[in-house]
Amino acid sequence: MRKIAFLLFFTECFFSTHSIAQAKLKPAIPAEINRPKLVVGIVIDQMRWDYLYRYYNRYSSNGFKKLITQGYSFENTFIPMVPTYTAVGHSCIYTGATPSTNGIVGNNWYEKTTKKSMYCTDDSTVQGVGNNDNAGKMSPKNLWSTTITDELRLSNNFESKVIGIALKDRGAILPAGHSANAAYWYDDKNGKWITSNYYMLQLPEWVNAFNQKDNAGNYMKQDWNTFYPINTYTQSTADNQDYELALPGLQTPTFPQKLSGITTSLKYSTFKYTPAAATFTFDFAKKAIENEKMGSGKVTDFLTVSISSTDYMGHSFGPNSIEAEDTYLRLDKDIADFINYLDGKMGKNNYLIFLSADHGAAHVPGFLKSHNINAGVFSDNIIFQQLNKMIEDNFSTKNAVLSVQNYQIYIDQVKLKNEGKDLNAVKKMITESLKNYPFIINAFETEKLNSATLGEPIKTMLANGFTPTRSGDIQFIVKPGYFDGGIKGTTHGLWNPYDAHIPLLFYGWNIKPGKTNRETYMTDISPTLAALLHIQMPSGSVGKVLGEVVK
Ligand code: ZN
Ligand code: ZN
Repeated sequence: MRKIAFLLFFTECFFSTHSIAQAKLKPAIPAEINRPKLVVGIVIDQMRWDYLYRYYNRYSSNGFKKLITQGYSFENTFIPMVPTYTAVGHSCIYTGATPSTNGIVGNNWYEKTTKKSMYCTDDSTVQGVGNNDNAGKMSPKNLWSTTITDELRLSNNFESKVIGIALKDRGAILPAGHSANAAYWYDDKNGKWITSNYYMLQLPEWVNAFNQKDNAGNYMKQDWNTFYPINTYTQSTADNQDYELALPGLQTPTFPQKLSGITTSLKYSTFKYTPAAATFTFDFAKKAIENEKMGSGKVTDFLTVSISSTDYMGHSFGPNSIEAEDTYLRLDKDIADFINYLDGKMGKNNYLIFLSADHGAAHVPGFLKSHNINAGVFSDNIIFQQLNKMIEDNFSTKNAVLSVQNYQIYIDQVKLKNEGKDLNAVKKMITESLKNYPFIINAFETEKLNSATLGEPIKTMLANGFTPTRSGDIQFIVKPGYFDGGIKGTTHGLWNPYDAHIPLLFYGWNIKPGKTNRETYMTDISPTLAALLHIQMPSGSVGKVLGEVVK
């Protein structure tokens, strides 16, 4: 009997202490899902991954270095498709999709259904707001998939505010998605921020007020000198190289860049190439945050900022120029200033930043050649003319090639069929002749990609970049270091690491410092944001959640 009583006592004690322990261990059930006040997506147009470290020693502790050391850096992030152009990169970052499902196969393409050339964000059905010409007739209608910004709006019955900002229309419109509250881009004829009636019928007062100040014109009154003494720019070649392009309106590609000497309206176009254009973009972003009260409501807002000036500069001078070095040292100060601003406005750790790039860039071929490194340029237009002459000579069909762009050949299949020509024979002749160009490694029909003898990751990148109604019929692959372009300046667009290896940094709200060299992809950015925000991923998303930042 005593034994039973003791057992009962023991059991009672055991269970009661156990339940107390359990109550202590059980995590409190959060009443609500925790989300940041504001997400800021920063895309630096044409920023190669190696710029994080090339200029690291001269960055301040509050800009890129802060993002690298206090944020999480995905050091081996690649673009998983070609071509590596601005519209393609921005669309991929914000949709988690590749051109095969989001439809943005280039900045430009030939639309087979309408037999017309198409620019990625052209929309003839809309009108500019703050602008009366074609620069305003823009919308995201060509983008097939939703964006992460659309998904944020969809997640809470469109309570979240989404605004896209970039000098380039495509850098503002594609990230902001279909349901954005606004997208603003730059009119390079007058230095003003504009939009289209896709978003609104008139510009907000704060935008008009910003425009009236003629900030771009005022920045152009100052010449561009190097921030530090020019002899300290030891990461770069000497200033004056004959393979560099002078800025529009200037005689030489050298410091000081005499911007103040450009007094016509051309100055608004030249402004896009200068470091001050990044400052100007961040200044406008701050005005948007303040006037649209972003990050001050009950739900998460999303601001997309793309810095376009780095791309204009990069095309002219290349990665090894003093201009590039100075641009990134100054951009570092803009980023430090913007982080400082967000800390003050949102409070530290109340906002989430991610920073990436839409693509990188090749070294200037002239520069590489001067160091005995293989590189070169060619002209798509010459290939276009030569192929058309060949088909005319052999098949008596004029203009059988419609276009050569994005390293693809578009063939007028309808015309060839109507004229009773052997389409397969035409394709075979074009493919074989392309292989004879000394800079072309391989050529094949895009529909026959699967049977082409081609290594990875190129094969997958081509498949990801292909969609039948917008892509070309024949693809050609060029030697590393070669591209379609002139002998001055540089470009991007290919599969090679210099074009496809991009920075990817997460910083702020719930992000623990760290880095990984694991291979990750541009398509992973949106699914990761979706996981962090507890919202659905975009409708065409094929990426994977980066577990390192989602704990
Ligand atoms: Zn770009
Ligand atoms: Zn570019």
